[in-house]
Amino acid sequence: VLYELQFTSAVEVLMSYWPHVKKAVGASEKIFEYVDRTPDTPPDGSLAPKTLKGHVQFKNITFAYPKRPDTNVLKNVSIELKPGQITALVGPSGSGKSTIVSLLERFYQPQNGKILLDQKPLVEYKDQYLHEKISVVSQEPVLFARSVRENIKYGKENASDEEMRAAAKQANADDFINNAGEKGGQVSGGQKQRIAIARALIQKPQILVLDDATSSLDTESEHRVLHALRKELKNCTVLLITHRLSGVENADHIIFLRDGEVAEEGKREQLEAKNGFYAEFVKQQNTSIHRNTEDVTNSSQ
Ligand code: ATP
Repeated sequence: VLYELQFTSAVEVLMSYWPHVKKAVGASEKIFEYVDRTPDTPPDGSLAPKTLKGHVQFKNITFAYPKRPDTNVLKNVSIELKPGQITALVGPSGSGKSTIVSLLERFYQPQNGKILLDQKPLVEYKDQYLHEKISVVSQEPVLFARSVRENIKYGKENASDEEMRAAAKQANADDFINNAGEKGGQVSGGQKQRIAIARALIQKPQILVLDDATSSLDTESEHRVLHALRKELKNCTVLLITHRLSGVENADHIIFLRDGEVAEEGKREQLEAKNGFYAEFVKQQNTSIHRNTEDVTNSSQ
């Protein structure tokens, strides 16, 4: 909490240099990783095509963090994220899900294998371009001590009220954007996530990563958000990292990661027919008493 507050006030001072800090703000959602990863960020590329489909391919990716070069956290991982599809990435804690996101954001370079974006090497793209096209929402988004509306508008320079309202609606956040005096610091966990999703959507990204970003929503809200994504961002490539069956059920393609390897993948029906990781996952979810209520302890709603 302390770090978040300190960082938030630092950001406020820097807000006047908005275009320059935008990238850092995006990365701030995982501040420790940001600090860690800065030295290893690959050099900037030059590709910035006018149109991007958002087709992502990881081909035989093996990766170890620079600080632990002997430990491969991804081992020969091959995955494909298709435009217009929601791909769910599931796996135990530490299996490498967020590492895949970091590689997609090009914060690190894999030791082996290729990452392609629309068939071209990811390393060849311009940083700023990737930042505009790929939107990542994390589980613990950082909000500024400003109104909900302003927090959403931070996703896009010069965003209009209309764009802000449309994004809020898609993120199922429109019920509280009008609350007078609602500040970023006073919202519940679930509201915070919805604001962060709206902030990402206003950017109209070609690739949207929800890294456990719907964990504090009740299943009905989560379903509504994902349904709106499908409708409004028809051709967007969505990567949904989730621990819940409700999220997985909304996906077109499901990937199970285990100890840095793809253990199982396919469509829901295909996985249902197997007695594998998906079946085990469903069993676990059904037996555990699972309450997906929003954390309303700090809510001023
Ligand atoms: P969770 O569900 O808990 O978020 P995850 O599946 O996203 O887990 P990662 O965060 O990708 O897993 O971590 C994969 C492995 O890499 C873990 O063993 C983790 O300790 C390690 N790791 C993550 N970040 C770093 C880092 N910056 N430096 C070194 N090792 C790291």
